[in-house]
Amino acid sequence: MRQVQHYIDGGGVTFGGESMEVLNPATGEPVATVPFADSELVDRAVSSANTAFQTWRHVEPAKRAGILRNYHRLLNEHSDELCAIITEEHGKTLADSAGELQRGIENVEYAMGISEHLKGEHSRLAGPDIDSWSELAPLGVCAGITPFNFPAMVPMWMFPLAIACGNTFVLKPSEKVPTAAVRLAELFTQAGLPDGVLNVVQGGQATVERILQHQDVKAVSFVGSTPVARAIYQQASEHDKRVQALGGAKNHAVILPDADLESAANAIMGAAYGSCGQRCMALSVVVSVGEGTADTLRDILGEKVAALEIGPGNDNLDMGPVNGGAQRERIVDLIESGVSQGANLVVDGRQHPAYQQPGYFLGGSLFDEVTPHMSIYQEEIFGPVLCLMRADSAAQALEIVNANPYGNGSCVFTRDGYSARQFASQVEAGMVGINVPLPVPVANHSFGGWKGSRFGDLAAYGPDGVRFYTQRKTITERWQSASDGDNMNFAFPSGSN
Ligand code: NAD
Repeated sequence: MRQVQHYIDGGGVTFGGESMEVLNPATGEPVATVPFADSELVDRAVSSANTAFQTWRHVEPAKRAGILRNYHRLLNEHSDELCAIITEEHGKTLADSAGELQRGIENVEYAMGISEHLKGEHSRLAGPDIDSWSELAPLGVCAGITPFNFPAMVPMWMFPLAIACGNTFVLKPSEKVPTAAVRLAELFTQAGLPDGVLNVVQGGQATVERILQHQDVKAVSFVGSTPVARAIYQQASEHDKRVQALGGAKNHAVILPDADLESAANAIMGAAYGSCGQRCMALSVVVSVGEGTADTLRDILGEKVAALEIGPGNDNLDMGPVNGGAQRERIVDLIESGVSQGANLVVDGRQHPAYQQPGYFLGGSLFDEVTPHMSIYQEEIFGPVLCLMRADSAAQALEIVNANPYGNGSCVFTRDGYSARQFASQVEAGMVGINVPLPVPVANHSFGGWKGSRFGDLAAYGPDGVRFYTQRKTITERWQSASDGDNMNFAFPSGSN
């Protein structure tokens, strides 16, 4: 069985303390053990990052970009190996792993433009003989804490850009999918990254708590569930750190009566059931406007959900297993609660033959006539379960979406540009799709929800990422001729005196 390591100062570190088994969700069998970093090991990683920062901060952005270019090439060369690791520990299909990795690599591409991103601003003649300019300076050691559902992409939302900005980094990946992060770090070293610039510590809550308390960690990026995101935001702020904490979601699609329902249903299927619904942008609620729309959509979706092909991620069918036994039990409990609270279970995922196989397989479930008081509506299920709701008008559908405490993504399906425009401007969500079911922004925009889906001012990656991983320094400079002396001036200086 594989022994996963920490990665500190450019090399693997085996640590003999507490450890956990990593399971292959397609078999339920252990494939690796992952060690948990204690405070001493976290301190060692932060110390290595802090030492590396003293040099890395002064490396020219163009040289940093050169290392990122090498890294980009290595990531592409090793993509099959990385996808196999993701699928083995997470369970998602190989095609889905390839999609996640590609989205991660796009963040490396964005970071390769770091000279442009850090260019700054200049004002000539801000005052008499005075020029003024702003620079974006790195922060120091930054930390990232990431969830199980994107073992490669979410870490790559963080460390390539943080490092490109001149920071050094300590990553704490999810203990359920620990291997990809180490491989990503090894490849970065191979690309020429100096030792200590990127470190990986494995572990759980105690490891995270030490990171949050450490005085040399200047910024924390978190992605995970909302209760943990809220707690991390509060704790990291109390320890004077800059923090961005992205949380959970309940993403709604609104289907207007003029939409092409067959095409909308196909889009909904991938967004709701891809990766077993274990995506923070997964569609989990569909609100149809009008009874006719709702009935037709339910019938089309019902057939498609019952026909879902499910098997190990390596077989590249529609869905693999969910990530763990406890997660599957929780999803099954929620399905039972939906039935007992009066929703209409159109397709029951427990009836799928895959549910009886070894591993954590579960068929897709479809509920109709879901109402806001039900647990299946209120909780983020994070599984292959889609809730259908009904509204009399587009305005009522929008009210339902906006009353939800989450605000990650939302989308509308329609053929009418005006209705789409109204929806986009009125919906309270950070990422909006118009006939696009998973509106995950590309790398030169930024990713972030509203309301309970994000704590902290700035979204992840892209332009917000550059702002998050830098601090502004504004320099005001005067050069005057040797004969011009300084006069005393007790009035507050302005551009005109
Ligand atoms: P999680 O919150 O359980 O764990 C996330 C990370 O926090 C892991 O590294 C874990 O080890 C650590 N952690 C867990 N409990 C902790 C605690 N009490 N104190 C400190 N650290 C703790 O999330 P998960 O189950 O790994 O991932 C699924 C969740 O992540 C879903 O809610 C999903 O919506 C969310 N997610 C959000 C986004 C986004 O961009 N908004 C992206 C991906 C996933």
